[in-house]
Amino acid sequence: MTSSASSIIHDVYEAAVTRNAGEPEFHQAMWEVLESVEAVIEQHPEYAEAAILDRLVEPERQIMFRVPWVDDAGRVQVNRGFRVQFNSALGPYKGGLRFHPSVNLGIIKFLGFEQILKNALTGQGIGGAKGGADFDPHGRSDAEVMRFSQSFMSELYRHLGEHTDVPAGDIGVGGREIGYLFGQYRRLTNRHESGMFTGKSVLWGGAEVRTEATGYGAVFFLEEMLAMRKDGIDGRTAVVSGSGNVAIYAIDKVQQLGGRAITASDSSGYIVDEAGIDVELLKQVKEVERGRISSYADRRAGARFIADGRVWDVAGDLALPCATQNELNGSDAATLIGNGVVAVAEGANMPCTPEAVHAFRDAGVLFGPGKAANAGGVATSALEMSQNASRQRWDFESSEEKLHAIMRDVHHSAYAASEKYGHPGDYVVGANCAGFVRVADAMLAQGLI
Ligand code: NDP
Repeated sequence: MTSSASSIIHDVYEAAVTRNAGEPEFHQAMWEVLESVEAVIEQHPEYAEAAILDRLVEPERQIMFRVPWVDDAGRVQVNRGFRVQFNSALGPYKGGLRFHPSVNLGIIKFLGFEQILKNALTGQGIGGAKGGADFDPHGRSDAEVMRFSQSFMSELYRHLGEHTDVPAGDIGVGGREIGYLFGQYRRLTNRHESGMFTGKSVLWGGAEVRTEATGYGAVFFLEEMLAMRKDGIDGRTAVVSGSGNVAIYAIDKVQQLGGRAITASDSSGYIVDEAGIDVELLKQVKEVERGRISSYADRRAGARFIADGRVWDVAGDLALPCATQNELNGSDAATLIGNGVVAVAEGANMPCTPEAVHAFRDAGVLFGPGKAANAGGVATSALEMSQNASRQRWDFESSEEKLHAIMRDVHHSAYAASEKYGHPGDYVVGANCAGFVRVADAMLAQGLI
């Protein structure tokens, strides 16, 4: 590492922190990338000359807007909507929408920034973006969610399009919300433009396996990491957080591969089911009834619900954080390591704090960062876009095989880059460098824009 590469990185970071004050999650995501691409900057002085890093950390466009709507009691409610279109060097902007009360500009920027490199790593032609609103769908009626979604899309639609910006779901945005958002777009534009949204129902342009893709993909990535040590998932126990889209299908795939997923959680607490989570019951509680996780334990013999505690206190061989950012800290990592965890794959975006990541690295625990491990969702979204453009429909088996092949490629690219840039087996460095080089080369080729 030369001091000039190091000082370039520090200068870019300091300037970006000053310019984006009060956005700690964005700073955290930015620093994780910047510190791991030092070797690339050292080997490619042309990137610094063209100010690639300075441009990468500044979104191409940031949209913030008012979302007024009327609740079931007739009261006017006002939320704030966001879309950060971060980088389109590799393709149309692509990234999910999050509806959660914690959403703010800094959270959306951290997610959009991560999305640039994740999307590049998939090898598909998609740029990076993220959006959402500080709206909480929990406890809202379908009619309220519909009115909110319609109001949200009444502003956002003008910034979207199959060649411009293609959103998908994220926390709080599942099949129901995507249906209402897509419906309003169609009404406003008079176009059934399937390729402008991914994660759609298979009834009207959605792709097989998109629902399962992020969770399945994270487990495929875990399997690839374990295979490097001649190990596997069969017979292993897994501790999983979350009980939404990503967690449910991560649990499902662990069990299909012979493992036993023994936990799930939501914002009210976690459950332990030593016999292995009953996926159909979990889906019934969380997807159909939109209930609390404790209802799973109420209905399943041998399962228990813990309201005040950390899911990471439960011993397991594998850990899959699949809920939200910074949900697994340094002390949780120490507990998992003490209990003999051998591999961690991030189903969520940035669920492990920097202290946790360092602890896993120092202990020799295999660690798959979200940028690589959860890239199966967006990769399958790109497959959905291909099917929409060619008016084809691929079946479940061939779509899952494509997802599996993409996750093997993502693993291979990340591992190869970790070796090339001097940190063999460090998938954080590998994923960041592999994704970064693809984006940087495209930015260089397209000139100063
Ligand atoms: P869902 O809304 O389907 O599920 C989120 C789950 O996480 C719920 O169990 C929720 O509990 C829990 N959760 C959310 N916020 C918190 C919080 N602050 N504290 C405790 N628990 C929380 O979202 P997804 O499964 O789609 O997303 C989960 C993660 O995966 C996110 O980080 C997302 O960015 C990432 N991701 C998702 C992709 C996708 O395809 N869906 C693709 C790539 C990454 P509760 O219901 O109580 O809020």
